[in-house]
Amino acid sequence: MPEKIVIIGSGPAAWTAAVYAARSNLDPFVFEGKPSQEMIPGGQLMFTTEVENYPGFAEGVDGQGMMMAFRKQAERFETRIKTHDITRVDFSNRPFRLDATNDETVEAQAVIVATGARANWLGLPNEQRLAQSGGGVSACAVCDGALPVFRDQHLVVVGGGDSAMEEASYLIKFASKVSVVHRREELRASKIMQQRILESPKAEVVWNSVVIDVLGDDVITGVRLQDTQSGEERDVECGGLFVAIGHTPNTDFLEGALALDDKGYIVCSDNFRTATSVEGVFAAGDVMDSYYRQAVTAAGTGCMAALDAERWLAGQGIE
Ligand code: NAP
Repeated sequence: MPEKIVIIGSGPAAWTAAVYAARSNLDPFVFEGKPSQEMIPGGQLMFTTEVENYPGFAEGVDGQGMMMAFRKQAERFETRIKTHDITRVDFSNRPFRLDATNDETVEAQAVIVATGARANWLGLPNEQRLAQSGGGVSACAVCDGALPVFRDQHLVVVGGGDSAMEEASYLIKFASKVSVVHRREELRASKIMQQRILESPKAEVVWNSVVIDVLGDDVITGVRLQDTQSGEERDVECGGLFVAIGHTPNTDFLEGALALDDKGYIVCSDNFRTATSVEGVFAAGDVMDSYYRQAVTAAGTGCMAALDAERWLAGQGIE
């Protein structure tokens, strides 16, 4: 018998979809992903030390603890979970077919794709070490920027796009100074976003520069910059590094099975709906949202996808 619904992913969107689907008697089957060097089940929040902006946690919660709680809640309603990746999908016929890393092929009447996106990093060993240990390196200012450790500090943001400008504008509220390090002499960001930084007395743009090392043992103490034109290197003291050089949605395994935008995000058929280009396949969370990218918005779209799937299945006579 095909599964009624398979959910791919294990971030806030996937677990919220599982809770809603389970409580609607859809008996969801979740592929939470296989741990690898790049990704672990639970997604990006597993790399976040403290979450202070998720409603309901007045004192804040650590990202890993939060994802364990999400998973536990889905298990409470008897969600079945496999710690494997889906490597290939066939959405050309129903029931859909999904191949997993444990050589299992699963058939499903409906699918929710909630595989998230990953922040792009510079790829420096000390950047990764301090990001994973909560040592002052982050890829999300809105998530981490308001933490006490970053208050009244000189903070460095890397990137020249809208995200970098947005992160810098957000950080200006807390920091003593914000330096935006950009590898060229022209920003990619929209004019209005640029203006906020270029006109702020607390911000500067360090042009034609790249971060080539992150300094500090347990916590960041500075960054080593290299001038892209002269090759000259210099160390700059700082109390935080925010990397804002874009995200990559986890959609490679779809191999053209769903319509994607030019950056690889799943395109939903209507604004504020979760139906994709294939009837019976729904998308939730960062894999379909390059704009808000918050735990709470991902959870919201997970709920929407489960409700959309439930209604669609009911229309097919599957309850
Ligand atoms: P983006 O537009 O792709 O910009 C990425 C930036 O990072 C670019 O300036 C790029 O430099 C730089 N970069 C990439 N790889 C790098 C590396 N290895 N080392 C150093 N710098 C590197 O990404 P984004 O800023 O995340 O924006 C993504 C999309 O979301 C955009 O369409 C944007 O307009 C939208 N967005 C909108 C808002 C808003 O309107 N409020 C806010 C955030 C994002 P180069 O310029 O040299 O390529």
